[in-house]
Amino acid sequence: MLLKCQRDPFLQEFTARVVSCQEVKKGKKKHYEVVLEDTILFAEGGGQPCDHGTLQTLCCDVSAGVQGLNLTQSDSVNVTDVQRKDGTAIHTTNKPVTAESNVKVALDWTRRWDHMQQHTGQHLLSAIAEQQYNMNTVSWNLGLEVCHVELNTTELTDEIREGLQADVNKLIRDGLSVVTSVFSSKEDPGLSSAHTRGLPADHSGPVRVVEIQGVDQNMCCGTHLTNLSQIQMIKLLHTESKRGNTLLYFVCGERLLNTLHSALAIHTSLNSLLTCPPDLFVGQVTKIQKEGKSYKRQAEKLSEELAVMLAATLIQQHGKVMFLQRDEIDAEFSVVLQRQLKEETESRVLLLVSGGTGAAQFMLKGPVELINKFGKEAGTILGGKGGGRDGRFQGKFSDLTKVPAALQFLRDNIS
Ligand SMILES: [Zn+2]
Repeated sequence: MLLKCQRDPFLQEFTARVVSCQEVKKGKKKHYEVVLEDTILFAEGGGQPCDHGTLQTLCCDVSAGVQGLNLTQSDSVNVTDVQRKDGTAIHTTNKPVTAESNVKVALDWTRRWDHMQQHTGQHLLSAIAEQQYNMNTVSWNLGLEVCHVELNTTELTDEIREGLQADVNKLIRDGLSVVTSVFSSKEDPGLSSAHTRGLPADHSGPVRVVEIQGVDQNMCCGTHLTNLSQIQMIKLLHTESKRGNTLLYFVCGERLLNTLHSALAIHTSLNSLLTCPPDLFVGQVTKIQKEGKSYKRQAEKLSEELAVMLAATLIQQHGKVMFLQRDEIDAEFSVVLQRQLKEETESRVLLLVSGGTGAAQFMLKGPVELINKFGKEAGTILGGKGGGRDGRFQGKFSDLTKVPAALQFLRDNIS
């Protein structure tokens, strides 16, 4: 059966009788599955996502006429999903509605309008790609931000993409009609020239054919615009290879405006950050990246020199325990320091402390027997946890005020 959304895709409100409402539990969560006598909410199919909307219980019989109905606002429930099951649209709601009651079905028109713009745009794009460029559509996707058609080609050049975009936009400007007809079945002889791309595999019964006047005929269960001019404009985006085919991304209508709006907002932000106009962005970023690499190299060199100098001062410290505390000790600095002190730590113990209150690290390095004997206890005095082997013990702690006690413990016991 064709639903009201398919018979009249521009209808935004509708009154229907509730056939059934069933509670469904999934773990701790529950929702309701509502079947209506008829619906203007499209169930996902033919590549088009489902509609969203609301159901609002009416307080009196629909047969009294729409004018005589009063609405009970508190009975409004959200429809968050609509799926087709054996030809019936199942509405998922957050609250129950009463079977046999009448409800006002309200469509989320912004979402539907977007879907119809992308969907009708896809019909046109696929038709022209096939007729003008011999590229057939294998599948398509109406995504949250961008859509794509999967074309059976590996040779979609920039030149072809530009030509395809120009051809499709010309037809949009021409404002050709989009007409939907209904045939008795898929086998109807009048359907010989129509594609079956948009028809669900398990479809039976009457079929709808969506015709772009003089351009294309396509069997499809979805909702469509009535004139190509309503698409407003199409922009073909990037491509991706997929198993011998090409995904061609696109946006139509309001989405194109939203995409442009986002791009311009990024331009404005970059303009402020880079202090140059958009045509100089790439050059400016390239310059900054180059400078960044140069600074990094210089910082690494200076860090290495500092580690070498500090190692020399540590060697000069008295006693068997060498101690260094710095706000930050990165891995490379630590490696250089340990390399410089390799010979020294064969007979002496090194205690390294870095970081700030709440997120500090310590490392002990020295003769295996000394680290095995005192490492764990030094870590306990610091109030931290750690581990290690082969003359190294390291871990994390949070209270820097405990460092002097740990150092004193090591100096008292290692001499
Ligand atoms: Zn369609």
